This record gives sequence, C-alpha cells and structure tokens, in this order.
Amino acid sequence: MTAVHVFTRDLRTHDNPGLMADAPDVVPVFVSDGAIRSLHGSANRSAYLHECIADLDRNLREMGSSLVYRSGPWVATVAAIAEEVDADVIHVARDVSGFARRRMRDLKARSPVPVVEHDSITVVPPDALAPASSDFYQVFSPYHRRWVEEPRRPMAPTPNSLTAHPVGSDALPAPADGASPGRSLGGETRARLDMDRWIPRTHRYDDVRNDLAADGTSRLSAALHFGTLSALEVTVRADEAGGDGYTRQLAWRDFNAQVLFHRPDASTIDYRGGTRAWNDDPERLEAWKLGMTGYPIVDAGMRQLIAEGWMHNRARMITASFLTKDLMIDWRTGARHFMDWLTDGDVANNQLGWQWVAGTGTDSNPSRIFNPVRQSERYDPDGEYIRTWVPELSGVAGAEIHDPSPLTRSAVGYPRPIVDHREAIQKFKLARGYR
Ligand code: FAD
Repeated sequence: MTAVHVFTRDLRTHDNPGLMADAPDVVPVFVSDGAIRSLHGSANRSAYLHECIADLDRNLREMGSSLVYRSGPWVATVAAIAEEVDADVIHVARDVSGFARRRMRDLKARSPVPVVEHDSITVVPPDALAPASSDFYQVFSPYHRRWVEEPRRPMAPTPNSLTAHPVGSDALPAPADGASPGRSLGGETRARLDMDRWIPRTHRYDDVRNDLAADGTSRLSAALHFGTLSALEVTVRADEAGGDGYTRQLAWRDFNAQVLFHRPDASTIDYRGGTRAWNDDPERLEAWKLGMTGYPIVDAGMRQLIAEGWMHNRARMITASFLTKDLMIDWRTGARHFMDWLTDGDVANNQLGWQWVAGTGTDSNPSRIFNPVRQSERYDPDGEYIRTWVPELSGVAGAEIHDPSPLTRSAVGYPRPIVDHREAIQKFKLARGYR
C-alpha cells in the first residue's frame, strides 16, 4: 500500500492523521498553485509559508523521507503524482472555504485512486455540532457549550521513520519581497517551541487578553492557520494547564470554520442578508491604512499591522469598527487590506471577524459601537501601546495620549481626527436605521 499525503494547511508531522494513516509507506507532497497565490497571496504569508515548507522538509528528512514540492495547478498535479508513484490512496486535510471544497470535489472527480479527507484543521469537525433548529450554530455561546463537551478524536502519533520514495521535486522559489520587518517566522519546529513557552501562561490569559500593552496573548494564530500546530493538541494541552479562557478563543476559531463551511458565501456577501450603502472615500481609506486617522489607538493598530504582519485582537476590533462605522467604508475593503498584511490571514476568521464588527455578521448586537477614545482609555490606560506604534506621540504624557489637544498635535506633527466620532456615529445610525 502506497499513500500520498498532500499537505495543505496541516504543515506538520505531529498529530497529523492524514500523514499517519498509511505510514510508513507515504509520499509527502506539497503543491504550490498560482491560483491560490493570486487569490490569497501576501508577502508575509508567502515568506512564512516558505519557512514552513523548508522546515517540514527538514523534519521529514530526519524520518528518512523528504517533501515532494511541485508547482502547478493543484488538482492536476496531485492526480499526476498519485499516478507517478502508483499510489493506492490520497490523504488530505478537510478544509472549509468554498475554494477548498470545490478543489476537493474536483480532485475526487479526477483522481485515479480514492481520496480520504481528515478532520485535522479544527478541534471539532465543522459539521459535527448542530442545534435542533439548524444545520450549524449561528450564535457562539451555545456552540461553545457544546464544543467543550464534545469528545475529542485521539491524537495521531508522530512517525518515527518514513519510507523514502525517489520522486522528483521542484526547487522552492524565493518568497515575495515586501514582508513586514517584525513578522513572525514560520515552521513546525519553531511553533512547537512557541507552544511550549506559551502553555504555562494560559491560566493567566483572561487577566491580560484585552490589555493592548501587555501583549499577553499566544501569538500562535499563524501557526494555527498554516497548521504547523494542531489546534487539537494546543487545546488539549491548554485544558490540562487550566486555560479555559484561552481554549474559548480556539472555540471561536472552530465556530467561524463551521459558519463558513455551511455558508461559504459569507466570505464575500453580508451574512445577515440584505444590502447596505457604504461610503466610497479613498482619502479617508488611505488615512486608515497608513495609521493617520488622528485617533491614536486606531493608528497604533494599523501601524502594528504593517510593521509586524499581526495585530492585537482588541486593536483589530477597534480599527475594523472605525472603518465600517465611523467611516462607513465597506467591510470587504478593510478585510482585503488585513488579508494583504496578516500572516495569520484566514478566510474564516478574517471575513467573519470583519462581519462581526461591521454588524453584518454573527454578532447578535449589530449596532454595537466602539468609541475609539473610550477603548483606548480602557485597554491601553497608560498609553504604552500607542507610544510603541505612534512614535510622534511618544513624548505625550498622561491621559492626553488618548486624544491629544490640537496644540500638541501640531507641535508633534500628528494629524487632527479625520472625522468627529459622535457625528460619524449619528450618521451611521441614521443610515442603518438604528436608534
Ligand atoms: P490568542 O488570543 O492567543 O487566541 C488563541 C487562538 O484562538 C488564536 O491564535 C486564533 O487561532 C484563535 N482566535 C482568537 N481569537 C479569535 C477570534 N475572535 N475569532 C477566531 N479565532 C480566534 N484570526 C486569525 O487567525 N486570522 C485572521 O485573519 C483574523 N482576522 C481578524 C479580523 C478581525 C476584524 C477581527 C476582529 C479578528 C480577527 N481574527 C483573526 C481573530 C483574532 O484577532 C486573532 O486570531 C488573534 O488576534 C490572534 O492572536 P493570538 O494568536 O495571540 O490569539
């Protein structure tokens, strides 16, 4: 029995059911498809993926095998490799987006051998839980209650050795230029060290998760997106370490995955239905992208995104709310900009995160407003996060950091607010019919 395991968003050797299904006689493959790169490409994710692939190849070599890397149309290339190695079966991780599912359907139709999908991207499979009244959960809290109780699949063992197969591999191309200087580096080896360092801190997660300056979250999102870490393994280990608050966030990841699985159109259209008018305002959009809105907390978040290819969750909510509610610019425009920069950029979490904040998604309170100055006072009380990312304001002392006076702004070369929050929100509420 010879198997092909096609790595996609499961770039790891630990807890990988597809890799282990027929080990040791498995040909490990990664296919780089130009169509995916042009659809979801970004310099940060391209560089990170490059590191993940190189590290995976190193780890597979230590097991006696190596990664077969090929460039080309995904379906045709996978099918061709299966024929080339005379495979009996193809193993792939099951993914949730419309794109991934169409691709899987095409592979099944074209493959000369059976294709087996493995639920290894989420903790709980995307079709495992449903309330009595629907195919999937549309509200997070009841989903979370079921998610906690759902029995976990057993973790897959890590192979000791794999059979070598003399299969030709293309050279790994250089990653695209333009990545963020402070981006995180990819690869299973590094991700496992990061996880080991993180787990003992999970029990304190709820105390610091919203503190922008404390930077007290795991920063494992890119490793989870590319699957260099198994979400199941992180959850099991965090549970053992008393990190219930932390695993709740991993349940959000599964929640979004099951929403997208059942509503693939939610990546592009308003989840709640209907149509909404948005402003076309290139100048203000550009100010938002550059972190020059005149709202220090918004600008800090937007500059962190460019500098690190990552942004704190609280800042993601504040900046997304500012774009969609204060500026009334379409959530899709903001989501695209995030996807251009986030190393963890993920269709389910990003598009549904944006829809949640914009009031078009799964939030049961769609008229929720984030006041940028109040958020700043609450989640960056000493202004440390702002001072880190908006250096013009580093010399501004005390509470003024949250909303500097016109005099201070002109002295340090920091812009005046591009909109008045209160007026902007009045217009937003009027346009959307909220009181
Ligand atoms: P931690 O706080 O340590 O959380 C642990 C893990 O749980 C994360 O790594 C992530 O996998 C998951 N998680 C945490 N919060 C959420 C959430 N709200 N929704 C879904 N999963 C969550 N997350 C992405 O992984 N990719 C994205 O493209 C993305 N875009 C977002 C866009 C917006 C507008 C918003 C509001 C949120 C977005 N998120 C996204 C969710 C969240 O902001 C990030 O997962 C988190 O900030 C990553 O940092 P961390 O690993 O330190 O998270």
